[in-house]
Amino acid sequence: MTQQFDILVIGGGPGGYVAAIRAAQLGFKTACCESNPYADPKGEPRLGGTCLNVGCIPSKALLHTSHLFHEAAHDFAEQGISVGTPKIDVPKMIARKTDIVSKLTAGIKGLFKKNKVTFLAGHGAFVGKSADGWKVAVGKEAVEARQVIIATGSSARHLPDIPVDNQIVCDNIGALDINAVPKKLAIIGAGVIGLEMGSVWKRLGAEVVILEGGADLLPAADIDIAKEAKKILTKQGLDLNFGVRIGAVKASKKGVSIAYTDKDGKAEKLEADRLIVSVGRVPNTEGLNAAAVGLKLNERGMIEVDAHCKTNLSGVWAIGDVVRGPMLAHKAMEEGVMVAEIIAGQAGHCNLDLIPSVIYTTPEIAWIGKTEQQLKTDGIACKIGKIPFMANGRALGIGAPEGFVKMLADARTDRILGVHIIGAGASDLIAEAVTAMEFAGASEDLARICHAHPTLSEVLHEAALACDKRALHF
Ligand SMILES: Cc1cc2nc3c(=O)[nH]c(=O)nc-3n(C[C@H](O)[C@H](O)[C@H](O)COP(=O)(O)OP(=O)(O)OC[C@H]3O[C@@H](n4cnc5c(N)ncnc54)[C@H](O)[C@@H]3O)c2cc1C
Repeated sequence: MTQQFDILVIGGGPGGYVAAIRAAQLGFKTACCESNPYADPKGEPRLGGTCLNVGCIPSKALLHTSHLFHEAAHDFAEQGISVGTPKIDVPKMIARKTDIVSKLTAGIKGLFKKNKVTFLAGHGAFVGKSADGWKVAVGKEAVEARQVIIATGSSARHLPDIPVDNQIVCDNIGALDINAVPKKLAIIGAGVIGLEMGSVWKRLGAEVVILEGGADLLPAADIDIAKEAKKILTKQGLDLNFGVRIGAVKASKKGVSIAYTDKDGKAEKLEADRLIVSVGRVPNTEGLNAAAVGLKLNERGMIEVDAHCKTNLSGVWAIGDVVRGPMLAHKAMEEGVMVAEIIAGQAGHCNLDLIPSVIYTTPEIAWIGKTEQQLKTDGIACKIGKIPFMANGRALGIGAPEGFVKMLADARTDRILGVHIIGAGASDLIAEAVTAMEFAGASEDLARICHAHPTLSEVLHEAALACDKRALHF
């Protein structure tokens, strides 16, 4: 028998589950299907997608544990605390991470129940059009829905001739389940995931060598942030190599050998215990049967959408990693809410210009808006307020004096155009900058707002003051 819904969401990641909850809140009869292999205790696929199962959440759990371990080993003594030589129980660390994932993914099933979203276990694929909607097969079940929201996300990009077994050669999935500290860890790709995973294992004692094809670190970041990050991460012991061309990769049960040429074209070979391949993500559009219904994809396999996530098919929407824009969980969630609200006749909105980027290294890196180099290219004159965390009492108190806040404000109007942070708490501090920019705030607006003392937020405050050359503490 065919199950009828107002809205069917295909994919239960942060884009999909949020879209489904919001749609149900707005009164639609809503279902969400999910087909991943991460089974919950009932044997059903877990909700939460890449983010909760093999992405944001597990990586941050491992980053936290490894940070504490590193602090205990290297930073406690300076504060008069002696704990001897700390030991890491990797299986316990992984079990803690898995437990957090289980709690959160189960929590989403609870939210579905609370909001009356029907969960359908199974792979969703278009079958055709019905009288007033779309026919979709979910596993063996037939479903009809007036509106379909595709939120099928992305998977790790693999390199040709480098088979990933998620034991010796890992993508993000295996990288989050490594069960012992490798002596030597190779990583291909110095993007966000490569840097975060490299940090985890470096802190736990591995020698980490990162091979990056690009000419330098973090090309999308503000130039000063990228430079500072390179300096700090190199000082932490990450062996960063740029302009590398990867050759033959040979894996055995014991390790992996990677042939490559360095930036000068010199042939090199790297022997490591494990390899993480983190060279970007590809959209999950295969298996949707997109061609059968004429769903338009772009040359990179992403679903083509307009600013409101409308596809070329009436009543079919697509959100999150499977469409253009940054592949970030919070962007996927925003689009999920937007689409549900537009379907309900409301003015759904997602500002793609103000999606914050965060890298959870130590120190954290976060930014919003334009970089200094983008403003130069666009011919926009700006004022720059740059304040180091070193000048902040709280930063010194918590032993985190590295980094700075750099604020860019329009030279003519004072409107904030970009905020770039490398320093402790950057992931939280950036929210204030996003808020100010969403309200089209000026640097003076932030400069005239009272910030609690002593807090790291005072660095942002001082950066705003510095845009007008009136910093008080630097
Ligand atoms: C290691 C790592 C760390 C990350 N850290 C962060 C971070 O700190 N912050 C951040 O914002 N982002 C982070 N990301 C990115 C983030 O995980 C993604 O941007 C986010 O999960 C995208 O959400 P989504 O809903 O579009 O897709 P996904 O989370 O990929 O979910 C899509 C879901 O759809 C399911 N699916 C696919 N096809 C079908 C089908 N045909 N039928 C049924 N189900 C289907 C998949 O199984 C999957 O569960 C990280 C990613 C990785 C890999």
